[in-house]
Amino acid sequence: MFDKFHEECGVFAIYGNPEAANLTYLGLYALQHRGQESAGIASSDGRQTHCHKSMGHVAEIFTPEVLGQLPGDHAIGHTRYSTAGDTVLHNAQPFSVACNKGQIAVAHNGNITNARELRRELERDGSIFQTSSDTEVILHLVARSRERTLPGALREALLQLEGAFSLVFLAENRILVARDPHGFRPLAFGQMELASGGICHVFASETCAFDLINAVYIGDVEPGEMVIVGAEGMTRERYAPVRDRAQCVFEHVYFSRPDSIVFGRPVQESRENLGRLLARECPSDADVVVPVPDSGVAAAIGYAAEAGIPFRQALIRNHYVGRTFIEPSQAIRDFGVKLKLNPIRHLLEGKRVVLVDDSIVRGTTSRKIVRMVRGAGAREVHLRVSGPPTISPCFYGVDTPNFAELIAANNTVEEIRRFVEADSLGYLSLGALREAVADKNHDYCYACYTGNYPTELVNIQELMAAKDRRG
Ligand code: AMP
Repeated sequence: MFDKFHEECGVFAIYGNPEAANLTYLGLYALQHRGQESAGIASSDGRQTHCHKSMGHVAEIFTPEVLGQLPGDHAIGHTRYSTAGDTVLHNAQPFSVACNKGQIAVAHNGNITNARELRRELERDGSIFQTSSDTEVILHLVARSRERTLPGALREALLQLEGAFSLVFLAENRILVARDPHGFRPLAFGQMELASGGICHVFASETCAFDLINAVYIGDVEPGEMVIVGAEGMTRERYAPVRDRAQCVFEHVYFSRPDSIVFGRPVQESRENLGRLLARECPSDADVVVPVPDSGVAAAIGYAAEAGIPFRQALIRNHYVGRTFIEPSQAIRDFGVKLKLNPIRHLLEGKRVVLVDDSIVRGTTSRKIVRMVRGAGAREVHLRVSGPPTISPCFYGVDTPNFAELIAANNTVEEIRRFVEADSLGYLSLGALREAVADKNHDYCYACYTGNYPTELVNIQELMAAKDRRG
């Protein structure tokens, strides 16, 4: 029924700025790393909602002509991650509908774990779905609510959802944003000064979006909180009782940009801490520390500083790899990785190399990179991973495969070392990960490293089957 989870997306919202769509475009531009499959913006001029979404990158989709057709002083935007098998436009967001609560649009980051049950009930009662996305369920719940106001209907809808959601809604005359009661996915809010005086409110998955538009980061939408911004100003309300926090630690390990503040913490600081602690826990006798770019860079800087080993960017990443490359008919070994990464031979030749990356998921990419570094003349390759082994799939919005494909779910560290063909392999401990993000109060979710899920997953078989179907 749902082919696809809502993985790894970026959301943005702005209220009270005559350049709302242009600023949303810039916000999405800064959030592009959170999703490259499709992007969309919905704006409202107080009477009508305008929406444009398309497959591809933000910069390609939003030409000046397209942005010119998105008038109004409030807007929301979305970038969506790409995985095989589900690259269809009808799942691109925002979703925009007209219903008895007026014209509304929604964009979502996260994954609603009880979406299947809710959808089944709604379909039984006659609802017709147009997409395979769990986000559409929210719109149906809002539309069917007997509450007369949109905030009331939204509150009622949100209380029926389980799992991870950072949501932004656009209504004719306001925006509404909300975070799930555990706070799995980030959602920051900020303010920017208007040329005419006064301030306007902005919301984004990551604060790097604020930096680009000169907005100031004020804080986070709290777990279980709904924030409404309209002509009356901003109101904050707790729509759900306090639950244990479960902020996704993988945002700090891999997913967020290092220049963002996520869950109130600078990501760069967390990553350098990860590298420093990794050097202490898994030292290596080596000549150079080399990151797997880009995600391994900050941790490698920390590792090199702690170990007193020179840091060298000996793998260069091509940032412009798109979907439209032409594959040669002649077989070229490790073609996919070569497109993305190229080694600098003279930095590696004859060297004992510590290679730092954030995770080994299936192990296949890591093996290609180890081979590439060895092929460029490295004498030894010591792989260091700035997180614990990834042993469990994520059901809260990160694109990890199922148990069967997760190499660390089925192999010992020594077996993984042999598979990736490294001379040695070291992972960070869970305790050190906790220390790196200063998690004193158990505020983070570590399910991908522990298998302990912070919510009840009643339909885990179905959730896993859906992960399998993604291809
Ligand atoms: P593999 O060796 O095939 O498991 O791939 C490991 C690589 O995938 C590492 O370089 C990671 O930075 C990267 N990676 C880890 N998690 C993800 C994710 N959720 N989405 C995309 N890439 C990831």
